[in-house]
Amino acid sequence: MADVLAVCEVRDGAVRGVSREVVGAAARLAGELGGSTHALLLGPPGVGSGAADLGEIGADRIYVAEDDDFGLYHPEASVRAVAELNGSGAYGAILFPATAQGKDLAPRCAARLDCGLATDATEVEVEKEGLVVTRPLYAGKALARMKFAAAPALVSLRPNVFSPDPRPAAGEIVALEVASEPRRIRVREIEAGERGKLDVAEASVVVSGGRGLQDADHWALLEDLVDALGEGAALGASRAVVDAGWRPHGEQVGQTGKTVAPNLYFAVGISGAIQHLAGMRTANVIVAINKDPEAPIFGVADYGIVGDLFEVLPRLAEEIRAVRAAQ
Ligand code: FAD
Repeated sequence: MADVLAVCEVRDGAVRGVSREVVGAAARLAGELGGSTHALLLGPPGVGSGAADLGEIGADRIYVAEDDDFGLYHPEASVRAVAELNGSGAYGAILFPATAQGKDLAPRCAARLDCGLATDATEVEVEKEGLVVTRPLYAGKALARMKFAAAPALVSLRPNVFSPDPRPAAGEIVALEVASEPRRIRVREIEAGERGKLDVAEASVVVSGGRGLQDADHWALLEDLVDALGEGAALGASRAVVDAGWRPHGEQVGQTGKTVAPNLYFAVGISGAIQHLAGMRTANVIVAINKDPEAPIFGVADYGIVGDLFEVLPRLAEEIRAVRAAQ
C-alpha cells in the first residue's frame, strides 16, 4: 500500500490545466497501489480556492501553501514542500507535469530525496515487480520501459496524454507552512511566447497547417478558420512549415513538437507523416483536408475532404460561421 503525491503547477494564481492530468494519473496509480492520492499546491494567497476541484478528480488530500513569495515559481520552496511531505518515505510515487517548470522541479526533488526520476512519461503501470514507466526516446523512434527499484518513484508526465476521471467526492484541504527563505534563486518573470494567444497544447480545437499551404502569407486562411471556430481554437503546424520559418516552433505538433489532444483537430495540407501523427492521433475527432486521396492523414481521419485547401477553407469558415450564428 503506498500513497501517491501529485505536484501541481500554478500560473497567474490559478491551477494550470496540466495539473489536473497529473492528479488524475496519481489517483489512478494510488488506486492500483491501494493508497491515497495527495496533491500539492504552492501559490500566492487565494490559490487554495482552486483546490476543491482537485478533490473531484481524485485528490483525497490537497496540501495548500500560500505565500506572497509563491506568486511566481519558487524552486527551493517547492523542493522543501515535497521533501517535507515525503518525510522519511511516505510516498510510493511522486508525479510532476513534464512542463518547463516540471522539468526544472522534478530533478531538484530527485536530487534532494536521492531517488530515481523518469521524465516525460506516456504510461505509468503497476506490475508485479513494481512501478514501470514508458517514455519515448530519440524523438519517439524508440520507447523505453523503466522499472523503479526503490520508492518513491519520481515521474514527470507528458502533457495531454493522461486525462482525469471525475468522481463524486471532495478532498480534504490541509494548509501547509513552507518557508520561502533561504533562497538562492528568484524567478523574476515568466514570459509567455505570444501573449493572449491560446497555446496549441491547451486548445480544445486545433487548426494545423502544413506545406500544402505553400507560403507563410496563406496562413490568413487558417487564422480565419480559427476565428470562425471561436474561443478555444488555436493554430498548429507541421514541422515542415516550422523548419521553413513560416511558423514558430511553439506551434509545432508532433514528436519533436507538442502533443495535443483536442476535441477537434483539423489537418490542412498535411500529409500525415508518422512523426506528425505521434502528436495528434489521440484527438477526439480528426478532420483532414488534402488534395491527395492517398495521403496517409486520411488513414487516421474521422472526416476527410479531398480537395484544394484554397477552395475548401473559405467555404468551411463561412459554413461554420453560419452554423454558429444560427445557434
Ligand atoms: P508534406 O509531407 O510535404 O505534405 C504536404 C501535403 O499537402 C501533401 O499531402 C499534399 O498532398 C498536400 N497539399 C499540397 N497542396 C495542397 C492543396 N492545395 N490543397 C490540399 N492539400 C495540399 N513532422 C511534424 O509535423 N511534427 C514533428 O514533430 C516532426 N518530428 C520529426 C522528427 C524526426 C526525427 C523526423 C525525421 C521528422 C519529423 N517530422 C515531424 C517531419 C515529418 O517526417 C514530415 O516531413 C512532416 O510532417 C511533413 O510536413 P507536411 O505534412 O506539412 O508536408
